[in-house]
Amino acid sequence: MANLGNIKNTLQVLDKYGFSFQKKFGQNFLIDAHVLEKIVDAAEITKDDCVLEIGPGIGTMTQYLCERAGWVFAVEIDKNLIPILEDTLSEYDNVKVINEDVLKLDIQKLADEENGGKPIKVVANLPYYITTPIVMGLLEGGVPLKSITMMIQKEVADRMQVGPGTKDYGALSLAVQYYSKPSVICQVSPECFIPKPGVGSSVIRLECYDVPPVEVRDDKNMFKLIRAAFNQRRKTLTNAISNGGLGISREQCAEALRNLGLSETIRGEALTLEQFAALSDELFK
Ligand code: SAM
Repeated sequence: MANLGNIKNTLQVLDKYGFSFQKKFGQNFLIDAHVLEKIVDAAEITKDDCVLEIGPGIGTMTQYLCERAGWVFAVEIDKNLIPILEDTLSEYDNVKVINEDVLKLDIQKLADEENGGKPIKVVANLPYYITTPIVMGLLEGGVPLKSITMMIQKEVADRMQVGPGTKDYGALSLAVQYYSKPSVICQVSPECFIPKPGVGSSVIRLECYDVPPVEVRDDKNMFKLIRAAFNQRRKTLTNAISNGGLGISREQCAEALRNLGLSETIRGEALTLEQFAALSDELFK
């Protein structure tokens, strides 16, 4: 099977199978070999790696992954793509296509059964409509992961990697940075896809931590605080948290901030991850 990372071969396959794109599945297929190389290079795949690809489409990036990885699991929700994948991946004996919604897949079980519980690498050109649930599910789900290298909407990639004091900083930034070290690899224009998405894209790599970079007694409580803080991000932290349904009063919050040497009128968007961890330990003693 010819390399699919170009418009001509992609159209040939789509035509052969009479495939119609489904908008509801966020189907924008990559047709740029240079971008495909960049993604798999950034993922640093070797024959020792077991890779989970989310949304293989017609198998364009899957072919690159099969060339480099020991084993590839490709999870695709659209049943119309399964016969196409059987064809485009027929040369490879190190791939298994799973016709499933990735949000329903037991990835922990997959890693346990198929990779002896060792960390896996995730590589994907993600469907943009469910980027956050997929990424948070992977990070919070306790699945052993080495890294996640993915194409996502540019604005979402920006939110994942920024620090305090910027408009993009929020609950997603803090969650991603608690579990991983993000780095943006490159920006990708809509011209590199068929059909062209209505937004710009970025490739981002999340290097997953074995141990989070900050210590906190109960990270679930910390994330409750973070969510409350950013649900009302224009309010002061004391107001946002006391209105957040956590059973914490304005006075308790103000006292905790004083104990940490922070202003009582500070907003959540000014706090670092370390400061949220310290505040959580103060408030949930
Ligand atoms: N990897 C291909 C490429 O780069 O050309 C396709 C990427 S396309 C942006 C996203 C793919 O994810 C589509 O094939 C779509 O059908 C699939 N998809 C969408 N929602 C999914 C879900 N919940 N679980 C698994 N796959 C999904």
